[in-house]
Amino acid sequence: MTSVGTQPALAPYAADDTRSRGRVHPEAPPEWRGEFQRDRDRIIHSNAFRRLVYKTQVFVNHEGDLYRTRVTHSMEVAQIARTIARALGLHETLIEAICLAHDLGHTPFGHAGQDALNECMREYGGFEHNLQSLRVVDLLEERYAEFPGLNLCFETREGILKHCSAANARTLGALGERFLQRRQPGLEAQLANLADAIAYNAHDIDDGVRSGLISMAQLLQVELFAHYHQQTLDEHPGLLSKPRRLLYETIRRMLSDQVYDVIDTTRAALQLQQPQSADEARLLGPVVAFGEPMAKQVQAMKSFLFKHLYRHPQVMETTAQAQVVVRELFEAYLASPKEMSPDFSARQETPRAVADYIAGMTDRYAAKEHERLTGRRLLA
Ligand code: MG
Repeated sequence: MTSVGTQPALAPYAADDTRSRGRVHPEAPPEWRGEFQRDRDRIIHSNAFRRLVYKTQVFVNHEGDLYRTRVTHSMEVAQIARTIARALGLHETLIEAICLAHDLGHTPFGHAGQDALNECMREYGGFEHNLQSLRVVDLLEERYAEFPGLNLCFETREGILKHCSAANARTLGALGERFLQRRQPGLEAQLANLADAIAYNAHDIDDGVRSGLISMAQLLQVELFAHYHQQTLDEHPGLLSKPRRLLYETIRRMLSDQVYDVIDTTRAALQLQQPQSADEARLLGPVVAFGEPMAKQVQAMKSFLFKHLYRHPQVMETTAQAQVVVRELFEAYLASPKEMSPDFSARQETPRAVADYIAGMTDRYAAKEHERLTGRRLLA
């Protein structure tokens, strides 16, 4: 195999930016970059990307400086996915673009904010954070003279839209087709999805222990964690007196093995099925995957984190407050649209404009706006 620039040669089933399905608004090809490189660059330059710095992953921004935010989460997802992409001959730059954009539509305050906004929007078509990420790159970013949004390639947009209801898929043209026909997206999109889970399972353990909400003793009840913890101690017994290094080394090993597992499992599936193009790969079942035993272990870890971290009373308390903030913001703007910035208050369809406006907010801006409109300060 020969190398082209920093990207190793692409496998036949990889996305190819010289044969992209293109952009909604046709543009001349970039001079010094590939099409997917241009997409990645546009994402990094977007306002929505910078706002991810101040958006909650699990812990609200003010709770501590070392916790993951949406932007550091997105970077970790990209890093994991790029390693796997290289090993499999997938398009590394496309995967990076998808990963950096995958959470652009997230509301302030993580899932709590999203659930609250979805509830508020129930009568007006609902709110899906995945679809919102697509709205951000298709419509809401306003940076270019010739078109609204970032005008990204089909393949990048396909990767951003992980899930979508049938009702919404029908409004999305070519991009929505796969949801109606129950087909898989390209392999890069499948990989971004899996890398997301690998990343948050690992970093939420770190953040969970740092916060004191989960303990090593609890984690040792999870087989996946206990295995690498023991392996680390067998090789480095001295780490027993250095709990932080022991924790990191355990997480590192756990994460690496998940990466290797995905590479081995996916490579075997590709060798068996031999897709000769990205479109042929789209016609197969899910290809980028864990092997069965690892999938079970990862699921057990997810369930553990759900029960002991995401549903921890302390997290739930913040969650409840976040939902009040989002709900009351929604009501206030709906009653008085002029309280929003002019771009949003001037729009025809008020409930959707309000949802777009709130979804774009950072945690602290939402808390500040809530205080301005209600006179009550929640969430510090
Ligand atoms: Mg994510």
